[in-house]
Amino acid sequence: MSDAPAPAREVNTHCPYCSLQCGTRLRGDSPVEVTVRPTDFPVNRGRLCQKGWTAAEVLNAADRLSRPLVRGANGQLEEASWDTALDTVAAGVRRIRATHGQDAVAVFGGGGLTNEKAYLLGKFARVALRTSHIDYNGRFCMSSAAAAGNAAFGLDRGLPFPVTDLRTAQTVLLAGANVAETMPPLMPHLDRAELIVMDPRRTATAQRAALHLQPTPGTDLALALGLLHVALAEGLVDQDYVRGRTRGFDPAAQRAMAWWPERVEEISGVPASAQRRAVRMLARSRNTYVLTGRGVEQHSTGTDTVAGFINLALALGLPGRVGSGYGCLTGQGNGQGGREHGQKADQLPGYRSITDPAARAHTARVWGVPPDELPGPGRSAYELLDALGTAHGPQGLLVFGSNPAVSAPHAGHVTARLASLDLLVVADFVPSETARMADVVLPVTQWAEEEGTLTNLEGRVLRRRALLSPPPEVRSDLQVLHDLAVRLGEPGDRYPADPREVFDELRAASRGGRADYSGISYERLDAGEVLHWPCPDTQGAHPGTPRLFLDRFAHPDGRARFAEVDHRGPAEEISPAYPFYATTGRVLAHYQSGAQTRRVRQLNEAVPEPFLEIHPDSAARCGLAERGLAVVSSARGTMTARVRLDPTMRLDTVFVPFHFPGDGRANQFTHPALDPRSGMPEFKVCAVRITPGGE
Ligand code: SF4
Repeated sequence: MSDAPAPAREVNTHCPYCSLQCGTRLRGDSPVEVTVRPTDFPVNRGRLCQKGWTAAEVLNAADRLSRPLVRGANGQLEEASWDTALDTVAAGVRRIRATHGQDAVAVFGGGGLTNEKAYLLGKFARVALRTSHIDYNGRFCMSSAAAAGNAAFGLDRGLPFPVTDLRTAQTVLLAGANVAETMPPLMPHLDRAELIVMDPRRTATAQRAALHLQPTPGTDLALALGLLHVALAEGLVDQDYVRGRTRGFDPAAQRAMAWWPERVEEISGVPASAQRRAVRMLARSRNTYVLTGRGVEQHSTGTDTVAGFINLALALGLPGRVGSGYGCLTGQGNGQGGREHGQKADQLPGYRSITDPAARAHTARVWGVPPDELPGPGRSAYELLDALGTAHGPQGLLVFGSNPAVSAPHAGHVTARLASLDLLVVADFVPSETARMADVVLPVTQWAEEEGTLTNLEGRVLRRRALLSPPPEVRSDLQVLHDLAVRLGEPGDRYPADPREVFDELRAASRGGRADYSGISYERLDAGEVLHWPCPDTQGAHPGTPRLFLDRFAHPDGRARFAEVDHRGPAEEISPAYPFYATTGRVLAHYQSGAQTRRVRQLNEAVPEPFLEIHPDSAARCGLAERGLAVVSSARGTMTARVRLDPTMRLDTVFVPFHFPGDGRANQFTHPALDPRSGMPEFKVCAVRITPGGE
């Protein structure tokens, strides 16, 4: 069975990019004719950002992959039949396993893959390849918030409430989230709220804020502790809530008492008066939300930093109340579902732990294999990439829906590791920078050509629907996994290629897990039901759970946990040799590694090249002029960017977007220090020097 759809002239589906998953209506008979219109879906209510409006152009990309490619004896990628390409992959996998063992073949997935693809990829890795080495680029996105959320609430769902609840907000703290650029249709939901934005840059979101806190990069946790200190010192803690719904307050409060605002000001540069004002605004409004984003999460202290903001939210009595709350704004299209169904190194479907014997037994039963045949936890994403081709690391890698040559930290090193592999296989729909390095490239379907489900930032499960048939020689990722598994000696019916069949198996695998999808079906979704997980398969259709934690948190005793956290600085401090903090991020026109958006004319014209945002005085010190080229160097690598002078930048900080390849790769200089609990790399701060570049 294939998931190739019957063509339709019009279809309701969702944007292929970020986790807001705006509702869209597609129309057209062929890739060139497809038009995208917003629907009145609750998260976007008739709006789209530039990326959503132009998404159809990628269907018609000039270099769309339309045939399998295999690297020939001449070193070039050459067109091949599917049989040749798949046989080459299977032979390579068998050869590597025979020489180096089962763990020598690894899998790298993506947070944009549908739930069905993420699920089948995890099963394929654990059962067909028997490797423990599977992780995905969502590790670079959400893992710190997931670790902190699980510890605090016993459950990790980006927003534990619908986006539309934000419309009643009076005050919202956005900590490290630039939603005006990354998710513009979210902004109208915040229209009535006073915003407190915490960001080292004066972003488009910060410009809309009533209060902008502009900390030194790497000091977010000190600031979170300072805010909690103010709440304690000014008697703004919700004592009844803390007593009735939480545990661990006293040790967390003791830590915060050491972080008085003036001390925090010294470290972070945020005035003590602004810290006090922020906490008073949060505590005195009736409907208050604390939301975190990548800015505070992508650090080697990311889990503790998010925990610091959750501590603040708990002290103010926000989580688990209608009209208030804490949430994390997930990033990638299926950032939420992608981490629930088994492509993460330590997880099995349903958000189960791979080290839990009961979870292993349940999953093995669904998969029809003995539990002790399931591998244990593997390496986190960067650790996996760092080990490629080394004496004890994987010698083969299969990549689905990811472009780590651009998106991984310390990208020059990761590229060298990819180049050292015996076998690199990439399944993609465009020749990404990673695909160009591959031994075998498998052309797969993209969003408007496939059926499936995704889970958006509020835990709502959504249907992706096909408008077009894929090009004739293009297969779905599910079909590819089926075909490869059969070549590796697995029974074909263990790897269904029909997304509905895969989803039904996913439902069974998730039954009883933390992310329970067993009560969700294509039929219910297609009938227009609004279903947020957990949605167990109960007698009488379960209505899903739009709001979590209203009565109890997910720990066995029903109480949330404060975390005992303390500030540590970044992995790398500035020095005379590297005198600036560099921070990286997204721009409105581009998405992730840019593999898709750099192929859209309008988006490419809007931001055609990487830029360096720098204060004019700092630029003068470095001998830079507006629109000239600058070379940004860290102890790890160098990139080149066009200078943009911005008087709102901190004097000690520069910003570079991370969407560009080659000499413009911001991840050439980023630091691979990892958060010890989440495995999140330190994308958001490192030390660099800036010198003028040639023209
Ligand atoms: Fe797509 Fe996100 Fe833009 Fe909505 S905000 S149109 S989901 S990229």
